[in-house]
Amino acid sequence: MSRQLDTQLLHTGSPAFDPDTGVAPVNVPTVRTSTVRFANTRAFHDVMQRKRQGERIPSYGRQGMATHHALEDAINLLEGGSHCFLAPSGVAAISLVFLALLEPGDHVLVPDSVYGPVRKLHQSVLQRLGIEVEYYPPDTGAAEARLRANTRLLYVESPGSLLFEMQDLPALAAAAHERGILVAADNTWGSGYLYRPLELGVDISIVAATKYIAGHSDVMMGAVIVRDDALAHRLHDTHYALGQTVGADDASLALRGVRTMPIRLAQHERNLHVVLDYLADHPAVQRLWCPAWPQDPGHALWRRDCHGANGLLSISLATQSMAEAERFVDALELFGIGFSWGGYESLVQLIAPQDLASHSAFTEPRPVARLHIGLEDPADLIADLGQAFAAAGLG
Ligand SMILES: *Cc1c(COP(=O)(O)O)cnc(C)c1O
Repeated sequence: MSRQLDTQLLHTGSPAFDPDTGVAPVNVPTVRTSTVRFANTRAFHDVMQRKRQGERIPSYGRQGMATHHALEDAINLLEGGSHCFLAPSGVAAISLVFLALLEPGDHVLVPDSVYGPVRKLHQSVLQRLGIEVEYYPPDTGAAEARLRANTRLLYVESPGSLLFEMQDLPALAAAAHERGILVAADNTWGSGYLYRPLELGVDISIVAATKYIAGHSDVMMGAVIVRDDALAHRLHDTHYALGQTVGADDASLALRGVRTMPIRLAQHERNLHVVLDYLADHPAVQRLWCPAWPQDPGHALWRRDCHGANGLLSISLATQSMAEAERFVDALELFGIGFSWGGYESLVQLIAPQDLASHSAFTEPRPVARLHIGLEDPADLIADLGQAFAAAGLG
């Protein structure tokens, strides 16, 4: 029987009953270990042989134990993948993809809307390895026009991290595949639940599990998900060589997060719409950035390709003054000032116009506040935004 995704997410990885007592815990145990013991040399050789044939049997802590395997299965389920590689952070997962797939002399296209630290990966590591990174405005034509004979990877991030520019993943994948180029997507926004890049033609999906998967602002983790065996092999070799691993306690927390992600996301989305409706006619807001907002330029693609929204939106403030924008942010009581998002709580990150200069979608320089709408009562969030606008003299 094929069950709905929400149901499967709750039951995947359920521990087997003890054959002696007929009892099993509900949750996958947190298996913390470095070393695994083998009963005898015969067992050792058998396990090694079965692993060479592709079986996922624990043989050393670095490659993960039952807790990690259950989390990999849950993330594969979310993304529609068959191989999942866990990494110690979202950035580590992104680095794994670039390092596994690119060689000196290769060219890679990255959208100008990309998550900021990817530019750091470019400047600190890829440049040194002789890998050429070129940024493109996040639309299909701009990407296609920049594909070259030595382009090996088309990197996409949809929606973008700060202004939520949507990209046409099926069209981008078709343009890349016509030339034998791989496509990798940062799918942290969708986390496999709201957006499924592998089903839209993308070859590699990357998720910062730090965000909605873990969901409680207490875990750092990343994941790389693919369907293709040959691609999985290349990722596996680099993952192994780089010694990337995550702790069992973190895997356990991420697995706990997955179980409630559908209901958390649904509530984030409901609260988002209440806040969007409030902000849409507010004089302090010059412009809203959110693909779930009908006037957003990415709305049609969002409707076509996504299965809902999360708690993210940005606002361009109706002022040129960073001092006023800072007064607004400092007056907020429920929105914590901080990076990241995807936990249960509301957050705000203030972005100066010059820090968005590299984003081609940003045509009218204004201070931007990115908001993560948490699971608080949305009436309280609106009241908080209202008093903070007033405190800053923004109406
Ligand atoms: C947070 C984030 C990352 C990085 O995740 P970390 O776990 O913080 O390293 C990557 N991409 C996007 C879009 C993110 O929001």
